[in-house]
Amino acid sequence: MRHFPIFVDLQAARVLVAGAGETASAKLRLLLKTGAHIEVYGRDPCADVIGWAGSGKITLFSRELLACDLPGARLVYAAADDEVADGRVRKMAEAAGVLVNVVDNLEMSQFITPALVDRNPLCIAIGTEGTAPVLARKIKAQIEDMIDVSTGTLARLAGEFRDLAERLPAGRQRRAFWADYFADFGPDALVRGGEEEVRAALKARVDAHERPQPSHGRVILVGAGPGDPELLTLKARRLLRDADVVLYDQLVDPRILEIARREALLIETGKRAGGPAWKQEDINAAMIAHAKAGAVVVRLKSGDPLMFGRADEELDALEEAGIDWEVVPGITAASAAGAALGRSLTRRGRNGSISFITAHDAKGYAEQDWRTLAQPGACFAIYMGVGAARFVQGRLLLHGAHPDTPVTIIENASRPSQRLVSTRLGGMGSDIASTGITGPAIIFVGLSARGSMAHGLQISAARQEAV
Ligand code: SAH
Repeated sequence: MRHFPIFVDLQAARVLVAGAGETASAKLRLLLKTGAHIEVYGRDPCADVIGWAGSGKITLFSRELLACDLPGARLVYAAADDEVADGRVRKMAEAAGVLVNVVDNLEMSQFITPALVDRNPLCIAIGTEGTAPVLARKIKAQIEDMIDVSTGTLARLAGEFRDLAERLPAGRQRRAFWADYFADFGPDALVRGGEEEVRAALKARVDAHERPQPSHGRVILVGAGPGDPELLTLKARRLLRDADVVLYDQLVDPRILEIARREALLIETGKRAGGPAWKQEDINAAMIAHAKAGAVVVRLKSGDPLMFGRADEELDALEEAGIDWEVVPGITAASAAGAALGRSLTRRGRNGSISFITAHDAKGYAEQDWRTLAQPGACFAIYMGVGAARFVQGRLLLHGAHPDTPVTIIENASRPSQRLVSTRLGGMGSDIASTGITGPAIIFVGLSARGSMAHGLQISAARQEAV
């Protein structure tokens, strides 16, 4: 993010516009919505500028902007539509330490004006770092359709009642009150009887919400899916937005954490740089402590929470502590990896079953029923298998698996960095090492990617390239 969005207070602030033609007047139209003291400098004012000066909305100086005008200004717009004149203003502003925007010149500007959806006092700013103004306008139109004009009125009335609502306990209860207001009783009252009705409804509701509510502390085990935020369930999204505390595993994609509220407490339970991973008891204790304090805790686990995620241990601990819990399933890594294969994970006449196994357990490399897994036609997905690849390979070959059994490794399934490696059981260990797979990966044994060649190692970023 090169341009950091902020809202600058322009009430009674001096804003200078160098230039008085059409370019300046387009910016002035926006600036006139603020409470700024606007000074316009230019010899050749257009009709709009003359009109605004005549009605006292701006102060017009029929000369160029000078360095001595700058001290005390909050913002400067260089809007002369003339490279030399604008460059001069830019230099003077920089020397005076006043933020400057050179109209339609991203590189010369220290700040840019975003596309705006104005539902005063609600204001939504849309920026594309200057790369795609057309996209910004399209999104602006979509948001304008989405946000009823009455939203501005509701926001203004909410502002009047901020102090009264302070009587509600901060946090969940106050948030619930305002969520209710904007989604439900506010719009209703406005339609029924206008602003007075909204004020009456607000008063009545504060009284009702003020009565003590039971603690709603609980824990929800939520599946974060394999990485792509679009593969989250709607329920996971809603719960994440609503959570007070999010305890997340290291594998959870950072793009998914962005969905949480900014005030939510986000705690990573995975390995820290150089430090050890949290112990299971620490995670259990943290969930319980936050829920007991009344928080809605989302325990966010990669993929599906019930797959190789110690969900039972966490649910047992919650039960024992008498905490309410719920499980929200997610898309497990093997499903996302299957999508990259472009092949059924089961198929009539080929494999009527598929196993999901782990190569690691609490003691180290996990022993499995290798005799069954080594049978011709057996298909299985190995989780946590990269480090144990040579071990698994050795066990399978020892139990009679054919070295030509197809093996497909999908690293970072569903993420932009997804990679697919097609090989054979005989070369699995060395191929995993030589291709430098370091991210989370699923190893399919007995399944090849659609279109992959019969022999030899192949690596591709996407399924199509395997052809
Ligand atoms: N509960 C998770 C699994 C946790 S165990 C789920 O249902 O997916 C961690 C293992 O999951 C990793 O070692 C890796 O084998 C697999 N994994 C997780 N995310 C993955 C991804 N995006 N691509 C490939 N494998 C992934």
